[in-house]
Amino acid sequence: MPLRKKEYQVHGLTGQFCDASRERMYRRSILEGVSGEFSLAVCVAACVFGMFAIADYYLLGLTREFYLLIAMRVVVVSICLLVAFSARRWSSAEYRPWLHALPLWVLATGIILIVPLRPESLSTQITAVVVATMAFYLLIPNLLTFATAASLYLNVGFLVVAVLFAGLAPVPTLLLSLLLIMGNVLGFFALLRLESLQRKQYALLHEEREQNRQLHQEIAHRQSLEDQLRMLAERDALTNLNNRGHFIKVANNLLHRAQSDNVPFSLFMIDVDHFKHINDTWGHSHGDWVLIRIAEVCAEAMRPSDVIGRFGGEEFVMALPNTSSEDAQRIAERLKQRVAALSFTDEMSELGISVTIGVASTNGEGGDLEALIKRADEMLYVGKRAGRDRVVVCRDGLGDG
Ligand code: GH3
Ligand code: MG
Ligand code: MG
Repeated sequence: MPLRKKEYQVHGLTGQFCDASRERMYRRSILEGVSGEFSLAVCVAACVFGMFAIADYYLLGLTREFYLLIAMRVVVVSICLLVAFSARRWSSAEYRPWLHALPLWVLATGIILIVPLRPESLSTQITAVVVATMAFYLLIPNLLTFATAASLYLNVGFLVVAVLFAGLAPVPTLLLSLLLIMGNVLGFFALLRLESLQRKQYALLHEEREQNRQLHQEIAHRQSLEDQLRMLAERDALTNLNNRGHFIKVANNLLHRAQSDNVPFSLFMIDVDHFKHINDTWGHSHGDWVLIRIAEVCAEAMRPSDVIGRFGGEEFVMALPNTSSEDAQRIAERLKQRVAALSFTDEMSELGISVTIGVASTNGEGGDLEALIKRADEMLYVGKRAGRDRVVVCRDGLGDG
């Protein structure tokens, strides 16, 4: 996957992100994982450096040079161990790249100082310098720039003291310089490759996370659109009750379940009396408000198992599973009273609302929802003809107001 963003570009010579803030974020993210590795590497390097005190003793005996070397080694080892142990506790806020690089400078100084005190062991020191150079680049985790600077300091310093104190001739100096240059080039490019690969990996991971986040956002957005669409498809915009189509779907399922469980099922057709008069007197917007209030009363009155919908205009329909004809009549009477108790403010304070409710029930026997609706509707019209503001229950095809 190609890296698209500019902030993820890696510098060709330092192996660091060109974007400084991105680089800081990267370093903070790796600090925890790298600090253990760093401490271990510095401890090992310090111990190896300290152990060469044995060689000092065999070569120098208990001489002044030996004591100076021992003192120097103790200082170097102590500083390295101090940095190594405190690095484990550094938080990302305390991270200082130069402090991280301090052991490299101290070790390099120690190695350089051995030459004036033990000039006859120059050949062994050359090996030590090459090994240390490789360790600076590849074993002790540090930034490429710091590793390179410390390594050049070690190599140049070593060449200078080798010429000054060990009397290194010009030709061997040239050969040694070439050897050290080779070691540095090798270490530099190996670390450069490692640094840029690690950052590219980090960048890929971040891009992937970003894309995942966007994907989740998109999914959530689609989900909410789907919910809105479902709402639009299932709900009546004015009263927020089920619309006719969705009511029929849900009520059909409830009726089938009631039939298979062999339990009664009732249905109300509720129509607002003289609603046209409300519209004509106070206007459509007031009429809408009355419809909303009636819908609220109906929704509050029903049980969790019941379903209500707006059938059309000022007509509502309610399905009551597990409800006998007698219970349905009681519930419908209570509902009628609740609607009648509705009060309005201001210019509509005089308004008295009533509804007529047609009730049809089935006792678990066959028959479809359409037939039940038709019967409840017939009862509704029986009630209208009989003077409105009443409940009419269908008993074996007979209206009973
Ligand atoms: P009845 O007692 O016989 O039912 O008389 P009614 O006036 O309630 O019945 P009718 O069918 O004559 O009038 C119903 C009115 O309801 C007519 C229509 O304009 C009005 N209506 C239908 N839908 C809405 C609506 O969403 N908002 C408003 N404000 N009025 C509506
Ligand atoms: Mg009507
Ligand atoms: Mg009406």
